[in-house]
Amino acid sequence: MIKSNEFYSYNTKELPVGCQYCVRGEKIVLFITGKCPRKCYFCPVSDEKFGKDVTFANEKKVEDFSDVIQEAENMDAKGAGITGGDPLMTLDKTCDFIKKLKQKFGKEFHIHLYTSLNLATEKSLKQLYDAGLDEIRFHFDFDDKTFWKKISLPSKFDWDIGVELPLIPEKEKETKEVIDLIHDKVQFINLNELERADNTLSKLSDMGMEVKETYSYAIKGSLGLGFKLMKYVEDQKYDLAVHLCTAKLKDGIQLTNRIKREGEHNHKAFDIVDDEGLLTRGALYLYGLKPGFDYRKKLLAADKDKYIIKLKPLFDRIKKKFKLSDEDIYLDEEKPRILISRKLVKKKKAYFLGIDLFPAIVTEYPTADQLEIEVDFLN
Ligand code: SF4
Repeated sequence: MIKSNEFYSYNTKELPVGCQYCVRGEKIVLFITGKCPRKCYFCPVSDEKFGKDVTFANEKKVEDFSDVIQEAENMDAKGAGITGGDPLMTLDKTCDFIKKLKQKFGKEFHIHLYTSLNLATEKSLKQLYDAGLDEIRFHFDFDDKTFWKKISLPSKFDWDIGVELPLIPEKEKETKEVIDLIHDKVQFINLNELERADNTLSKLSDMGMEVKETYSYAIKGSLGLGFKLMKYVEDQKYDLAVHLCTAKLKDGIQLTNRIKREGEHNHKAFDIVDDEGLLTRGALYLYGLKPGFDYRKKLLAADKDKYIIKLKPLFDRIKKKFKLSDEDIYLDEEKPRILISRKLVKKKKAYFLGIDLFPAIVTEYPTADQLEIEVDFLN
């Protein structure tokens, strides 16, 4: 019986270096582009991102490189995982960001990248290597072997090489074929428990694949195939590190650790930070842009400058009236509102209501989108 590690995944040797940072929540996820040469039926990328040349650092939309630095600093990141789409679709930008990350945070800042084999050439891989990439991971297409032979290319460079394999229950034969081909060409394989996604590309449900539990997106039979393949690698005596990455690790441990980290490093002096990194704070909203039905949609569509212009005099007034320092109050331009302590919003709620602000106590994620978990209006 294979035993799980402390992160609820399974490994035969040491975890791949990139994964060691990820499980501790120390890596910024850099979604460099939504463009991709493939259309996999298990693709997890959302409809808002797939096929579009958009960039995100964790949940933060990136307009220029300074946004990446800010997000990395917010969580005191020790490295980055570059994903997409396929980062090789925007190779120059990807290399530019790798170089800049290394310049800003130093050589030790560990960077790994996921790509399909489609766009890998000796030239494109050299560009990535020269930019400073530490670890590269390839996705195989089980239904089309055209590019499989390219897996010999990355060993021309001195970096860690791995292969990412989604555990598709009916693709046992093809997955074994890939393992037979790559076992002496790469250092590790990551076997990924398959998860359903709420997007147009993912066809897993249409293909009859069911989730294993009501409140889980993990596909039935996927983890079982992972155990079989771990045994297969052992029986074949392949000198290959195998990591079976579970849905529980990705959604539970990795994300939870990153959020905890962001909570510790990215909070206001007046926030209450709980053990999971969630922030509880006082918030003052304007009528027309307060949490409720369709709040997220309204936020996206809102002319934020218009709300900031309305909020600024109220912000100055509150600051003066309660003799607050810069540490005690914050004008949030992302979600136009004023932030203060939970204590102050409770104590002075009548005053805030009197100047047409809607006081609330909110608990939310410390991430760039500040997703609300709970909003308690005090009226
Ligand atoms: S799973 Fe990866 S390679 Fe496949 S379509 Fe989605 S982004 Fe592209």
